[in-house]
Amino acid sequence: MTSPVASNGHLEPVDTLYSRDVFSPAVMRQRLPKDVYKRLLRTIDRGESLDPGVADIVAAAMKDWAIENGATHYTHWFQPLTGSTAEKHDSLITPDGQGGVILNFSGSDLVQGEPDASSFPSGGLRATFEARGYTAWDATSPAFLHRIPNAVTLVIPTGFVSWTGEALDTKIPLLRSVEALSHQALRILRIFGTDTGVGRVYTTVGPEQEYFLIDRELFWKRPDLVVTGRTLFGAKPPKGQQLEDHYFGSIPQRVLACMAEVERELWALGVPVKTRHNEVAPAQYEIAPIFEVSQLGSDHQMLTMEVLRRVAPRHGLAAILHEKPFAGVNGSGKHNNWSMSTDAGHNLLDPQDDTHTNMQFLVFLVSVIRAVDLHAELLRGCIASAANDHRLGANEAPPAIISVFLGDMLQDILDQVEKGQLKRTLKGGTIDLGARTLPTLPRHSGDRNRTSPFAFTGNKFEFRAVGSSASIAFPNTVLNTIVAESLDYVATELEKAVGKSPTPARVQAAALALLKKLVKQHKRVLFGGDGYSQAWHEEAEKRGLPHLRDTVDSLKALTAAKHAALFKKYGVLSKQEYDSRITVAYEKYNKELTIEAETMITIGRTQILPAVLRHQTLLAQAVESTEAAGVKCGETSAALGEFVNLVSRFQEALAALEKAVAHGDDDFAKHAAWIRDKVKPAMSTLRSYADALETQVAADLWPLPTYRQMLFLK
Ligand code: ADP
Ligand code: MG
Repeated sequence: MTSPVASNGHLEPVDTLYSRDVFSPAVMRQRLPKDVYKRLLRTIDRGESLDPGVADIVAAAMKDWAIENGATHYTHWFQPLTGSTAEKHDSLITPDGQGGVILNFSGSDLVQGEPDASSFPSGGLRATFEARGYTAWDATSPAFLHRIPNAVTLVIPTGFVSWTGEALDTKIPLLRSVEALSHQALRILRIFGTDTGVGRVYTTVGPEQEYFLIDRELFWKRPDLVVTGRTLFGAKPPKGQQLEDHYFGSIPQRVLACMAEVERELWALGVPVKTRHNEVAPAQYEIAPIFEVSQLGSDHQMLTMEVLRRVAPRHGLAAILHEKPFAGVNGSGKHNNWSMSTDAGHNLLDPQDDTHTNMQFLVFLVSVIRAVDLHAELLRGCIASAANDHRLGANEAPPAIISVFLGDMLQDILDQVEKGQLKRTLKGGTIDLGARTLPTLPRHSGDRNRTSPFAFTGNKFEFRAVGSSASIAFPNTVLNTIVAESLDYVATELEKAVGKSPTPARVQAAALALLKKLVKQHKRVLFGGDGYSQAWHEEAEKRGLPHLRDTVDSLKALTAAKHAALFKKYGVLSKQEYDSRITVAYEKYNKELTIEAETMITIGRTQILPAVLRHQTLLAQAVESTEAAGVKCGETSAALGEFVNLVSRFQEALAALEKAVAHGDDDFAKHAAWIRDKVKPAMSTLRSYADALETQVAADLWPLPTYRQMLFLK
């Protein structure tokens, strides 16, 4: 078996390594009859449905390719509502009746699978006695090989539906939302007469992934990290990220070796990862790919997280993808860079040089702004989770108030739109570096704004509030759907205004008039200042922008009937499918926090308390023996008194948390509110006493690796 990292130190060149383990269009062209290959491409590129005869031929070619590469098993790979991926492996073997086996894989094996659906969250979509669920081949995302040293598995990306046809996964709605957006975007292109040669409009995504790497030995000694993905206890070390010396710093060698191996594995899987660097917090890093069409980018993002987790242990590291693994230093997010592009490769959010003359771009831009303003609650809700609650609004991540940052150039143009006259495009000019040996640099026409949750960055929007451990499928489903709605509205208005035979002049005039109205209506969502500031919170409230502070409030807002109706209208989610997503989100919130609380109690009772009592005994013995020797030790004696006092408060806090977490409620929304209002405060109280104890207990007695060890051991 070939490994992406050769043991002799010679690395396979990237151009042959890239996509090596993918049943890619190039492989298909070699192995499929021409007409079958063309049929399949029409499905992949144009979204045409696939006839069953084709599947048999594709399956046979895929099987041969996989077996030649050492595969013994195949699996349908899907993305249930857990937010992670799922797979059940079947071997390719079939007994041949003569005591041997043949390797078999048919068209129906490729097209449909039937995992038991009963153990996946369905949010009430089906009762357990109707547990049937099917996986269905998604030809738009290529099959690939999963390799470990002694096993190669053929992995087939699929959608996951219930017996009644409802989507039980995150992929099917994403595919539907891409269709919805494509349909509406094409109407706009038709109005502008730019639809020639365009069959579809895709959405594109390039997610930047932040993560932590810490020493694996230390990781295993922290039950909180192992069980919940974050530290539930831990006193702040004297050095955190104050010196700002980690960001973009030189990458520690062990980490770099790990990153390089992650990248090579991902390249073999056809994931175009491009960027690596140190992030703001100590032990925090980032990996980012080149953007792709959303559905593929979303699958690839799941693979990126999986490969990070899988490769890190080979370097004695553990990859932590949780949104807030360590208190007191930055948490991790996932910047979801998003745009729309025609299948001819034209980025519809590219402003081009004389932006003020580019009316079609302005129509797409303002449609997105309108969508974000009208559907801010959905954007807020789709990224809400117990883990992300630690970041949003905490001065390290975008605030929980959804607003749009445009930059000076576009802001200036929208101001002109509002006045009804388009005259100029601000230029950035150049920067003179003042040293003759250095080149003059072109300056962007606007600076960046790190505090905005939804920022225009050159030729795409960057939705920055997505959590680092989250699947990007649902956030992109929401984005595509709300923008589809906006494009629908705009196309309808423009079609009315220009009539059956639009002339370019009429289109321009109608578009400007409509945009003027829309900018007036929706400019309240535009904000270019400091999103972390108190002043913005007050200003946003004056503007009437929703401020949903946490998951509980966000999920409640999602239950409004208008949201379900929107998804239904565009064929993305039925009412039942929509409601089920909210139910699953509530269940996840409640379960995750209950697990965290119970883990705290266990660690508190079985690790921290015994250590603390040992330390207390030490102090008591010291006082006793010192005084027995006839020496006064007033200070140690006073310290003992204070320590005992702190220990009692710690024990009281343990008991209080036990009591809070024992409370149950059949109504999951009410239970979520209880957890937020009673359990979470009890958890922070307990933590504050434990962290205070950590700073006093003898280092050799403290049972958990410290922040200093975890964050600075490289
Ligand atoms: P920055 O965010 O620092 O400006 P880049 O411009 O390199 O950095 O982009 C960051 C991410 O945005 C990358 O993953 C990149 O592929 C992605 N990206 C760039 N253009 C698009 C686009 N048109 N659609 C979606 N993602 C994009
Ligand atoms: Mg970025």
